[in-house]
Amino acid sequence: MVKALIAGTIRADHALPTGIALLRKGKSAIDAVEATVRLVEDNEDDWTVGLGGLPNLLGEVELDASIMDGKTLRAGAVAGIKHYKNPISIARKVMEETPHILLVGEGAELFARVMGFQETPLLTQTARDIHQDFLQKKGIVKYPYDTEDTLKLKERYYKSFQHLVKDEKLMSWYRRYVETTHGTVNVLAVDKEQHICCGVSTSGLSFKFPGRAGDSPVIGAGNYADDRYGAAACVGTGELVIRLSLARIAVYELSKGATVEEAATTAISSLRDLLPDKGSVSIIVLDKAGNVCGACNWQDYYFWVATEDNPKPQKQKCIFVDLKSEVNGVGYHR
Ligand code: ASP
Repeated sequence: MVKALIAGTIRADHALPTGIALLRKGKSAIDAVEATVRLVEDNEDDWTVGLGGLPNLLGEVELDASIMDGKTLRAGAVAGIKHYKNPISIARKVMEETPHILLVGEGAELFARVMGFQETPLLTQTARDIHQDFLQKKGIVKYPYDTEDTLKLKERYYKSFQHLVKDEKLMSWYRRYVETTHGTVNVLAVDKEQHICCGVSTSGLSFKFPGRAGDSPVIGAGNYADDRYGAAACVGTGELVIRLSLARIAVYELSKGATVEEAATTAISSLRDLLPDKGSVSIIVLDKAGNVCGACNWQDYYFWVATEDNPKPQKQKCIFVDLKSEVNGVGYHR
């Protein structure tokens, strides 16, 4: 019989004690994952998730999240949702209350309102200042930032964008902006009934194109859970993770008998398939026996694990997979 356990990415340490307390009381993995992710979303000092997350190019915070129930293989997700600080809970409602998996943008916001979620301003002063600095330094939109004048900012954005497309400079612009801040919270849990759940939430790449969704709301890419084998979730350059269906690769490896170490390193090694495309990616893998392992393609990354017997979160280092390229060091992860 596997004891209850919860694992989370680097900035989930303050939230895991809540998750493990719920699991110890016999609550479901879904309840524990949702409650844990919500606390990270509520932390406005975390620039990569929920409230305080860094905005898109237009200064609007757009959030992505997903949750997957390993017992039923049901899942729910939202992408590009504005004005709501707990997308993980909206994703859970999508899973439980709709016949769909993924709701995006305005439709997701409408659904959230119907479900009784309250709107909250998401852009903090710090995030606003960072955005302003970005616009000025990168010179993409060549006018001062003016929060009262979003329409004008949009017009300036469209003009700059048209110019970039016309001059075929869009990709080089893209390569410049992916070097900015990003990160994600991943929380994976197994409960006393041996059910597994995985939740993921992020504000995505900072200063992304409006409407850009990453891997976090894409089931199989940033998130996957199956009670029969385990679960996996990713942090990092979502475009790479989507192209590889990375979380699904890891869980598929578990289904073939791989250990968590093998599944995690195989998944990260598969990034070689995409070279020379650059990015940094980490994965946390949990198996149904309660083993957890993280792997990544940059040094010195870690995650946290709290167990029924040892509820104080313990730090675990990720296995570094050297892709022997210049990939490492790109991006900034929290
Ligand atoms: N995976 C996230 C995304 O692409 C960002 C990150 O985890 O750094 O949206």
